[in-house]
Amino acid sequence: MANVTRDFFIGLSNNQFLNTQAKKWGFSLGADKFVAGTTVESVIKAVKELNKQGISCTLDNLGEFISDKTEASEAKEKIITLLDTIHKENADCHLSVKLTQLGLDIDQDYCIGNMREILDIAKQYDIFVNIDMEDYLHYDQTLEVLDVLRQDYNNVGTVIQSYLYRAEEDMERLKDVRLRIVKGAYKESEEVAYPDKLAIDRNFLKLAKRRLLGDAFTSIATHDHHIINELKAFVDENNIDKDKYEFQMLYGFRNDMQHKLANEGYHFCTYIPFGDDWFGYFMRRLAERPQNMNLILKDSLYTEDDKLKKGPIVVGVAMVSAAAFWRNKKRK
Ligand SMILES: Cc1cc2nc3c(=O)[nH]c(=O)nc-3n(C[C@H](O)[C@H](O)[C@H](O)COP(=O)(O)OP(=O)(O)OC[C@H]3O[C@@H](n4cnc5c(N)ncnc54)[C@H](O)[C@@H]3O)c2cc1C
Repeated sequence: MANVTRDFFIGLSNNQFLNTQAKKWGFSLGADKFVAGTTVESVIKAVKELNKQGISCTLDNLGEFISDKTEASEAKEKIITLLDTIHKENADCHLSVKLTQLGLDIDQDYCIGNMREILDIAKQYDIFVNIDMEDYLHYDQTLEVLDVLRQDYNNVGTVIQSYLYRAEEDMERLKDVRLRIVKGAYKESEEVAYPDKLAIDRNFLKLAKRRLLGDAFTSIATHDHHIINELKAFVDENNIDKDKYEFQMLYGFRNDMQHKLANEGYHFCTYIPFGDDWFGYFMRRLAERPQNMNLILKDSLYTEDDKLKKGPIVVGVAMVSAAAFWRNKKRK
C-alpha cells in the first residue's frame, strides 16, 4: 500500500496538466506548510525568521523540466534577483538550483551559459550555489555540467543520492567538492537504484561517514532521526570538527528537530522552496510521507470551526486526484 501511495503522488508530481493548472490556481492545497510563498520577499522573510534562531538556509526557486527558453530565462532572472536580495539583506543563505529549470532539456551549453551568469554574481557576493540532483535521466548531464563549471568556479557543488548503486563511485570522484548527501526523491528503476529502504539507508550512512572523514564540506540532508543519531555519535567518536558539515532538512518538516540540532550547536540549514511552480515539489513530499496528507486535507478542506470549505480549487484537485488514483490502481 505504501508503494501504491508513493507511486500515486510521484505520478501526480510529473503530471504536466496538474502542474500547469496549479500555477494558474495559485498557491493552495496546504502547500504553505512546505513552501515559503511565491515571491522573493516572502522567502527572504522566512529566511530572516530562521536566521534569528541560528539556522541558515538554502533557497530553491521552484521549477523544473522547462522546455521553453523564455521560461528558463525568466527563472534565471528571478534567481539573480534573489541573489541581489540575499546580498542586500545580508541574509545567511545560499542557493539550490535545478538545471532543468535553467534549460538543460533545451540545450546543455545554453544551460551552462545561464549557470555562468548566476555563478558570476554569486561569486561576487560570496554565495554558494548547489545544483540539486534530479531524476536519473538527467544524472550524467548534471555531472557533466558540474565538471565544466568547476573549471572556473569554486562556489558550486551538487548532490549524491544514496539510492543509486553508483553513488559511492561518483562521490569519490567528487571528493574535493562540497556535496549534499540525500536518499533520493525520484522513482528510479531497479537497474540503477536500490529498491529497498534498508539498503538505501545503509548506503546513506556509509557515504556520509566516508565524507565526514574526508576534507570537503558535507551537507547531511535527511529527516531520519536514526541516521542523524548514528552520525552524531560518529562525529563525536572521531572528533570531527563541526565546521566540516551541517545537517539539512526541508522547510516545514520536523521543525522541533531542526531547532534542537541548531540549539545543540550543530550547523543547521533549512532548504526553503518558494515560487509559483510548487505542485511537483509538493506532491513529491506527500509521496515521501503520506501522513502529511491528513493534516493538509483537514487544513485545506475545513474552516477553523470545522465547516467544509467550498473552494473550487481544492475540491477540483481532490476529485482529479481521486480519479487518477483509482485509474492507476485498476491498472495494477
Ligand atoms: C535538504 C534536502 C535537500 C534535498 N535535495 C534533494 C535532491 O537534490 N535530490 C533528490 O533526489 N532528493 C533530495 N532530497 C529528498 C531526499 O532524497 C529524500 O527523498 C527525502 O529527504 C526523504 O528521505 P529522508 O532521508 O528525509 O527520510 P525518510 O526515509 O523519508 O524517513 C525516514 C524516517 O524518518 C522519520 N521521519 C521522516 N520524516 C518525518 C517527519 N516529517 N516527521 C516525523 N518523522 C519523520 C520516520 O521515522 C521515517 O521512517 C532532499 C532532502 C532534503 C532534506
